[in-house]
Amino acid sequence: MKKITNEPDWNYQENIAIHPCPCNAECGQYVLYIKTGKAHIKFADQGMIDVASLDISDLYDLLANVYLILSVEDKRDELEKTYRKKKKKLK
Ligand SMILES: [Zn+2]
Repeated sequence: MKKITNEPDWNYQENIAIHPCPCNAECGQYVLYIKTGKAHIKFADQGMIDVASLDISDLYDLLANVYLILSVEDKRDELEKTYRKKKKKLK
């Protein structure tokens, strides 16, 4: 799994971004943006659309969901690598 540091070395906000709501000081919300091409609704422009307002507990839920999926994907990668190595040895 790719190590996530405080500032990743790839453009991690090209397709998806989370920014504080303009009134974050009062509402405590963060806004989830996604590139229009990735949305299920079709948009004419190629920019970003705001999809949802998230509070801190939503962000923790999002993080837990993403972590779980990436952990499974990471295990799958490991298994596929092991399988390919064993297959090579058998030839
Ligand atoms: Zn707000």
